[in-house]
Amino acid sequence: MYVVAKNPFLCTMKGIQMVDLSAQYAKIKPAIDSAIAEVLDSAVFIGGQKVESFALELGAYLGAEHVIPCANGTDALQIALMALGLKPGDEVITPSFTYIATTEVIALLGLTPVFVEVDPQTYCISLAAIEAAITPRTKAIVPVHLYGQAANMNAIMEIAAKHQLFVVEDNAQAIGSDYHLANGQRVKTGTIGHIGCTSFFPSKNLGCYGDGGALYTQDAELAQKIKMIANHGQKVKYVHDVVGCNSRLDSLQAAILSVKLRQLDNYIDARRTVAEAYDAAFAQIPALTIPFRAPDSKHVFHQYTLRVAGGQREALQAHLQNLGVPTMIYYPIPAHKQHMFAAFGVQDLQLPLTEQLCTEVLSLPIHTEMDEAQQQYIIESVLSYFK
Ligand SMILES: *Cc1c(COP(=O)(O)O)cnc(C)c1O
Repeated sequence: MYVVAKNPFLCTMKGIQMVDLSAQYAKIKPAIDSAIAEVLDSAVFIGGQKVESFALELGAYLGAEHVIPCANGTDALQIALMALGLKPGDEVITPSFTYIATTEVIALLGLTPVFVEVDPQTYCISLAAIEAAITPRTKAIVPVHLYGQAANMNAIMEIAAKHQLFVVEDNAQAIGSDYHLANGQRVKTGTIGHIGCTSFFPSKNLGCYGDGGALYTQDAELAQKIKMIANHGQKVKYVHDVVGCNSRLDSLQAAILSVKLRQLDNYIDARRTVAEAYDAAFAQIPALTIPFRAPDSKHVFHQYTLRVAGGQREALQAHLQNLGVPTMIYYPIPAHKQHMFAAFGVQDLQLPLTEQLCTEVLSLPIHTEMDEAQQQYIIESVLSYFK
């Protein structure tokens, strides 16, 4: 039915991209440029008012009592685990189907990553798998709100309370997502566990123009520890109480993020609009599974990720590439199969769904600036494969 014409976007200067940050910048250029100019004029490049005010703005947006900016999302996860006072050999339960940073920091700190299976609908950590993995050495759970879909935090917090475990939310892909607590309250993901962690990597839903990250918590004592750890373990200058690290969000990035935070809800809406059109187009294709939207949360579509059945993913990806439609595979290798974790003896661990997802997932371009013509072209390109 569909005839895919020669890619109209190949003829123009710029083809279809996974993320279009230059078109996004063009729309907010005056505000960004003046925020940057202010920092340059002030010559305060580290710390200062821009960083403080961004932390307060983000806290207000998220409903988080304490926001501590840091250098990137990986540092945020590392600092979170450091702040919990865990000891070498303590076990941290985490999905294997995630970006490597989530699991890497656990091993880096001498803790033991316990890789578990994901849920077949959300692709986030499986509740049954968490319960089965708990031992007397388990100290924390790190759920990942993958692709912008929240993990089942109500149940995770219940399990954590029952076993007295810490919960660190990897919120790098879901900032701005609303979550409905069991008590009827509506909160933001990342503010439910003991600590939430975010990345401001440029392509994230709230991205800066370099590296950045943040931790947030409702607990004043944890906030104090996090602040110290991110700043060489010091509370008073040149007095170092604990071994920490140096992890700062710089003032230029903070100024940029303050401008972009005001757009975050619009950006989420734009992503959801794209996702709805994709859903409508692909729901009836038997080989494709469209993203699940859990009723207890608002999917913010950091990625729009299809499952492609029947071993056809690579062929579909090649078909799309020929038509000038880029795609990505998040993630091709599960964490437990990575050589970096060989010392934990997890190579032969059986996580069948995780391993299957790694062979089936395919993420389509989705971003805040996608126009209808581009989207229609992508949809027709996908459909043309199944003709
Ligand atoms: C991006 C990301 C991180 C790491 O963030 P960086 O800022 O790149 O260090 C961690 N976890 C997940 C799930 C991510 O998507």
